Amino acid sequence: MPSIAENLTLIRTNINQSINARKGGHQAVMLLAVSKAQTSNLVREAYAAGQTCFGENYLQEAINKQAELNDLEIEWHFIGPIQSNKTQSIAQHFEWVHGVDRLKIAQRLNDARAHQSPLQICLQVNISGEESKSGVNPEELITLAQEVTKLPHIKLRGLMAIPEPTEDPTIQRSQFIKMRTLLEQLNQLGHQLDTLSIGMSNDYMVAIEEGATIVRVGSAIFGARPSKH
Ligand SMILES: *Cc1c(COP(=O)(O)O)cnc(C)c1O
Repeated sequence: MPSIAENLTLIRTNINQSINARKGGHQAVMLLAVSKAQTSNLVREAYAAGQTCFGENYLQEAINKQAELNDLEIEWHFIGPIQSNKTQSIAQHFEWVHGVDRLKIAQRLNDARAHQSPLQICLQVNISGEESKSGVNPEELITLAQEVTKLPHIKLRGLMAIPEPTEDPTIQRSQFIKMRTLLEQLNQLGHQLDTLSIGMSNDYMVAIEEGATIVRVGSAIFGARPSKH
């Protein structure tokens, strides 16, 4: 099995290739290593290989890991579903939150962040339109973005999506194009959003070709996640 360092090297090469294959600009891409369900030691191994941004889905697991790794200069991103009773702790323990899809959640994160630098957030969009998926519907996105932009302790950076899982690159691409179009629409309305958080292990290259600026990659770095018991 390839090591974490070898996986990271390969992914960075792929990322650079995809940036060069983009039709639009060559804006940099942040590789976010998704370390949910992985041990602190594996995070340490990735860090030693030059990886500094990590994404976590589960608050308590993340807080434990942060304590074990507090000698490292890691930028932590919260990418999981957000329960409103966890907003205080999320705002205090993370620099970025990707899955904001309701004004109430944004307000609570904002209030909890009053004594720190602004929290960097992305609005999660339900791009596949599946009932079960979290995320704001595209029709409601403009209103939500307008309201969130007014919050002083939050910096709205862009949009995030977890597209419908598919191996079909045409469907993958069309969902990413929809996301890029929504971002462009918001910027035409006067927003200054620079972030498109789309793309995971099986589709990050297509996502970058269509404008991703953050890719959230877990299993391609760490291998398959251990199953929970
Ligand atoms: C788990 C997860 C990822 C990473 O998924 P992989 O397929 O392992 O790369 C990315 N984003 C979110 C929101 C996740 O929950």
